[in-house]
Amino acid sequence: MTAREMFEAIGFVPFFKTKDLIIYENFPDNEKERINVVFYLKIKQIRVYYVETDEDVFINMPLLKAINKQCEEFGWLDKLTIMDELIEKEKMGKPSHITYSKKENKFIGVCRKCHQIVNQKMNYCCSCGKHLDWIEENENISHIEESKRGG
Ligand SMILES: [Zn+2]
Repeated sequence: MTAREMFEAIGFVPFFKTKDLIIYENFPDNEKERINVVFYLKIKQIRVYYVETDEDVFINMPLLKAINKQCEEFGWLDKLTIMDELIEKEKMGKPSHITYSKKENKFIGVCRKCHQIVNQKMNYCCSCGKHLDWIEENENISHIEESKRGG
């Protein structure tokens, strides 16, 4: 049985797809019961929520199995993939587009892995968990603070 068949068996159909994500949706009579299962293909994460309220969905075993099957088909569950991901996360990565925010009094940048905005206070990206390298910025901040104190 394919993931798609497993989703269909519990009332979900793939209804939206881009290169970044795939969404399965059930089409209940009651709009409040409408659920989206979103697979984020680049960051390999999944979100399940009620569309109307944005609330969490409690995941039962048939849904979990369908989700697992989908992850398996994407190759996300391969042991090597998982190890590579862990290693990749632990490798320090310098964010791109680093600029100094006067307002926040710290450097901000963009995570190279998931493209979320990150700031100097984060040792790890809050979205994908990537270990962030702010070594230079930490040095620069102390220069900025020194020069402020200086006048
Ligand atoms: Zn990230």
